[in-house]
Parts: sequence; structure tokens; C-alpha cells
Amino acid sequence: MDYRRTYIKGLFALPAGTATVAYGWVKTRRDSKGISFVQINDGSCFKDLQVIVNEGTIDAETLKKITTGACVRFDGVIVDSPAAGQAVEMQASGVELFGPADPLSYPLQKKGATMEFLREIAHLRARGNTFGAVYRVRNEAAWAVHKFFQDRGFLYLNTPIITASDAEGAGAMFQVTTAVETAHGEYKLRTNEAAQDFFGKPAFLTVSGQLEAETVALGMTNVYTFGPTFRAENSSTSRHLAEFWMVEPEMAFCDIEGNMNLAEEFLREVIGHLLTKSEEDLAFFNQRIEPQLLATLKHVVDSSFERMGYGEAIKMLEQSGETFEFPVHWGVDLQSEHERWLTEVKVGRPVILTDYPKEIKAFYMRQNDDGKTVRAMDVLAPRIGEIIGGSQREERLDVLESRIQELGLPMEAYWWYLDLRRFGSAPHSGFGLGFERLLMYCTGMKNIRDVIPFHRTPGHAEF
Ligand code: ATP
Ligand code: MN
Repeated sequence: MDYRRTYIKGLFALPAGTATVAYGWVKTRRDSKGISFVQINDGSCFKDLQVIVNEGTIDAETLKKITTGACVRFDGVIVDSPAAGQAVEMQASGVELFGPADPLSYPLQKKGATMEFLREIAHLRARGNTFGAVYRVRNEAAWAVHKFFQDRGFLYLNTPIITASDAEGAGAMFQVTTAVETAHGEYKLRTNEAAQDFFGKPAFLTVSGQLEAETVALGMTNVYTFGPTFRAENSSTSRHLAEFWMVEPEMAFCDIEGNMNLAEEFLREVIGHLLTKSEEDLAFFNQRIEPQLLATLKHVVDSSFERMGYGEAIKMLEQSGETFEFPVHWGVDLQSEHERWLTEVKVGRPVILTDYPKEIKAFYMRQNDDGKTVRAMDVLAPRIGEIIGGSQREERLDVLESRIQELGLPMEAYWWYLDLRRFGSAPHSGFGLGFERLLMYCTGMKNIRDVIPFHRTPGHAEF
């Protein structure tokens, strides 16, 4: 046995008459008039391979155990299929049963299982149609992300997962410590002195690789990160995870216009890539999960995004005639209901909002001359709300220092970040894209917990 063999995806391309082997997990078995029809799948493509087993070809006891969930290898010949929806099938001549799956207790037996139920058996859901498709699209999208940046000469960069800096100056962080001893489920505090902790100071899981990415961009021009990010978000929404993957490009010699252009180009290209490379999976999502999916994605690839200032958006929201749960006026942070109204009702495609009040944005964003707003840009998408958050960064040492002071942030902690402005500073910009938000958008899946193999949310760290 070797990984170098033909996956089921490849078997469909073989000419009738070819003798071959197929490995996979049984989706269903149906018996009719001395013939068993077994659908198997190995995850390589959406479509199952249909294997025809004539009575007497394989031992009856083994055939009985070839039920949903069982793992098998069939030997046989590829033949033209009389059935609709498939060009070829396999005529079995032999079988090896690797692992049976007792039909009485196999959890993935039921058809029409809810997403909530499947989440509880996340260790088995890769074998179903929906999650097979989600994981393949996730893989294809990750590839497209790298391809997009590599094609444009960006340097792929890994920023630390454990960090002593908090990118936003506030935020929900997970602490990393060895100051507790654990033994057989008991926790004992070893010390509560940060100086005696592993790193000699408090350390946390990163909420963003941006600040570190800036250090490398100001030396190597265009860089990007693509890695895990952690936020102890307390709310259990359908759009927030405690552990998610973020794509963060950072570019020297780039202003907010260039930043918006990159974000737009990036989304269009990744979506375009999926429309061609994940056609079968997207067709499934369009049919079963989100009826407008393909139309929406094609529309995004073909049209430019609407760009507007935060102030203009607030005016539109005020004049919308809608009653929002969170009232709108200049200065408020936009809630998901506002973002969705703008993209879904008002504009009908993604919107890039710029120039937010500085009070609701991070300290590092470049201040506008009005003294009130900063060069922030958020990309909002229908159904999802915010998918990208970015900005032109403050490159002026004095302005940055006074902003840090104004906010009461610890100046000393930012010594290296300020050094970048002290020595060879340059206009620069970047953004953060939540990879799972992008996947929600591209698959139509409604809950962010269902576009990552194992989700981390409040109260949930199973598997
Ligand atoms: P939101 O307002 O939606 O909570 P944010 O403003 O906190 O997002 P940023 O700090 O701008 O988010 O992070 C950049 C991107 O990372 C966001 O645009 C979003 O796509 C994604 N993101 C942020 N928080 C989460 C989370 N908890 N789970 C999944 N993705 C997230
Ligand atoms: Mn944001």
C-alpha cells in the first residue's frame, strides 16, 4: 500500500476496461435483484464512485459488513455506467474490508443530520458530503492565498504565536503561562509573579501578526502572514472563533488607496480561483446551502467594490428608515446589522468603508488632517459583515507617540515599534483578512464553526 495510487477523482478519468483498485469509505449500499450498489468516497472529489458487486463475486459475510461508514478496498474494472450523472462506475471483482462500522451505533448513519449534531461529531464529519466539500474548498482557498501573494513577489512570513505585545492596545487575549503546575487534573499556582514566569513577563497568544509584519515590511517591502490567531471573544456569535486563521499583507510604499486596490484584487482573485477549481463543491453549496451563492460570487468577480467614507455610511444608515437594535450616529462602531444593511440592502455587493473616527480604531492607524478620523478601511461583505480590517499605518514618529500617550498606552512596550519610525520610516499599509469569514462567504455556510475542522469557542475545546 502506498499513497502513490489513483484517487477516486482520477478513476473517473480512466477509460472503460481499465483494471484498477479503489480505496474509500462507504457512503451507502443498496441491494437490488442480486446486485449491490456501493457508493464509496475517499475525499478526493465530491462525487462518489459507484461500485457494482454481483452476487457471488465476494463472500456474502463480508458483503453484509459493507455498510455506511465502513472502510474498504475494491478491486475491479472501470466500466461505462448506465446510470445518470456519472460516466463510469466500477465492476468489482474483489474486496478487502479494512474497518467495518456497526450500523446500529455509527453516528453518521442518519440522513439529514443537523449542523449542530455534526459539530458534536466533528471527528467523523469529514466523511459527509458537506464537510468533505468545506475542507476541499478550504484547502483550495489556502492555496489561492499563497498563489496570489507569491505571484506578486510578496514574502511569506511567520510571526510569533506567543507574544508579549498586544496589537490593539486592548483586547481579549489568552495568557500563556507555566506559573501553574498541573497534575492529574489539579491546578496549583506556582507563582503569581510575572517576573518568575517562563518569559519573565506576561505573555499571550497573538491576536494579530501585524506589528511584527510591519518590522519586516520596512526592510523587505511586501510581506504577508497566514497563520493562527487567538481572541478570547466572550460572545458566542456565528462569526467569531477563539482560534482562527488570519491573512495579513503588509506593504511599504503603499497608501490607503493601494491597500484598498490590493484587498479588492485579492478577494476577486481568490474567489475566481475557487469558481474554476472548486466548481463541483461550489455547485453543491449553491444547491443545498445558499441558493444565491454562485450568482453572488460571479457578481463579485465581475464588479468593483463600492467605496465610501464612514461619515457617508452613517448618513445613509440614519436616513434608511430602518429601526436598528443599536442606534446609529457619527462616532459609533458599526454593528453587524448596520454592515449587513449597507452591503445587502443599500449597495448589493461588497463595500469598503474608510476614514473612521479615531476613537473606535487602533492607535497605529494614520491620522487624517481633520484630527478626527483615521485612514482605516474595512471591507464589508453581504451575509458576513466585516471580512477585512486594515489601514494605512501612522509612519510619523511624533504623531504616533502623542497618540500612544493620549490613549495611556505603555510607551516603553512599543520601543521597537517606534524604532521603525525613528529609523528609515516609510508610508506603509496592510490589512487582516479572517480566513474563516472568507470561507463563510465562499461556501454560504452560516456558522463560522462549520468552516474550520475543529472549532474553538467559549466552552468548547473538544477534539
Ligand atoms: P469584528 O468587528 O467582526 O469582531 P474586528 O474588528 O475585531 O472584527 P480585526 O481586528 O479588524 O477584526 O481583524 C481582522 C479580521 O479578522 C476581521 O476583518 C475578521 O475577518 C477577522 N476576525 C476578527 N475577529 C475574528 C474572530 N473572533 N473569529 C474569526 N475571524 C475574526
Ligand atoms: Mn476590524
